[in-house]
Amino acid sequence: RAARQRFVARNPNSGKLFGKAAEYLPGGNTRTLLYTAPYPVFMKKGEHYQVFDEDGHAYTDFVGELTAGLYGHSHPLIKKTLIDTINNIGLNLGSTIAQETAHAKLICSRFHLDKVRFTNSGTEANLHALAGARKFTGKRKVAVFSGGYHGAVLGFWDGVQENGVDQDDWVIGRYNDAGLAKRLIEKDDIGAVLVEGMQGAGGCIPGTKEFLMQIQESAKKIGAVFILDEVMTSRLGPSGLQAIVGLKPDLTTFGKYLGGGLAFGAFGGREDIMAVYDPRSPGSLAHSGTFNNNTLVMHAGFTALSEIYKPEVAVEFNRVGDSFRTSLQSVSKGTKMSVTGLGSICGIHFSQNGQTEISSRESIEEDMPLKDLFYMELMENGFWINKRGSMALILGTPQSELDRFVECVESFLRRHKSLV
Ligand code: PLP
Repeated sequence: RAARQRFVARNPNSGKLFGKAAEYLPGGNTRTLLYTAPYPVFMKKGEHYQVFDEDGHAYTDFVGELTAGLYGHSHPLIKKTLIDTINNIGLNLGSTIAQETAHAKLICSRFHLDKVRFTNSGTEANLHALAGARKFTGKRKVAVFSGGYHGAVLGFWDGVQENGVDQDDWVIGRYNDAGLAKRLIEKDDIGAVLVEGMQGAGGCIPGTKEFLMQIQESAKKIGAVFILDEVMTSRLGPSGLQAIVGLKPDLTTFGKYLGGGLAFGAFGGREDIMAVYDPRSPGSLAHSGTFNNNTLVMHAGFTALSEIYKPEVAVEFNRVGDSFRTSLQSVSKGTKMSVTGLGSICGIHFSQNGQTEISSRESIEEDMPLKDLFYMELMENGFWINKRGSMALILGTPQSELDRFVECVESFLRRHKSLV
């Protein structure tokens, strides 16, 4: 309660802005995740690895726009690309553009895809990949996993699909349970399997190699399309998490940072499956979207991937992330806090019963009041993190800020010894 009182005293302008927002937006909100009680902090601007709120506080940004903000808030090369595009080309041209091919070629070569198509979000990428898989196999049912998040209408929180219309379309397994995955997938009516190599929104829980390989093998055995959702994880290495684990999905979905920080999604993979979207074939599937190939994202995404997030940069960035997570794991040893994740993505958890081995969403009961306290105190120390506990590093965040974060976590755990 004291932390909440300090929060309100520190953030009066955010409180006022929230009051106005709630007049027009349900709960003052247009992205449910960003709502936090008593009201969310309103950010005013971002610069490189920092964000600044409406009450004048500066924060080191560990939200990293939920992995999309990899380049920071004002990368000079991306800024220049956007300005040049506006000045020299214009916005959407209502036509196919050559830059679309350039970005498609780059993504196909980085992620070993035969063909790719662009969308405006990861959600759409998954919806279109599923539609393509269904068309290709002629089967509707899709195997997914509890705790999986594949977009706004594709969340499978506690074994049920939220926001979706047709419950019968889904068969929901437990993440990291290879035996169950085999039993569920190897049924005649499954047309596709959709899985994250590491559950992101579900808690940054990496899939074991055994589990992911089992999915791939079972899908192959029955001719179902294996779709790997790399919307979050494609940044974990030069060719995504699939290359690290050794997976060869039939289709992969993408989003987030691959649009240079602008709204982006893509799906692609096997030539024969992607051919269902070839408008030259009779009976092909339509895939539209006014902004799918917009000039800004095609140029910014290309610049970002070809000139900034080069393969060697991806390797080093994720090495820094691994070492950051190891430091957090080391200071939290013996407490209720645990740190999951891979490379440049981390998940912070506080368990109710001291359980620190986390293999699925069901394997931990989170201590939400403790997580809230952590969020508020870290914010008071100048760190912007999300309340869910996931963290995504930004390129170029100084090592001194990573070290200061670890020190603050250590101090939090020391000060609240009786709670943790
Ligand atoms: N898939 C995964 C694994 C995600 O983490 C997300 C977003 O967080 C999505 C899909 C949806 O992407 P978008 O928010 O761009 O629709």
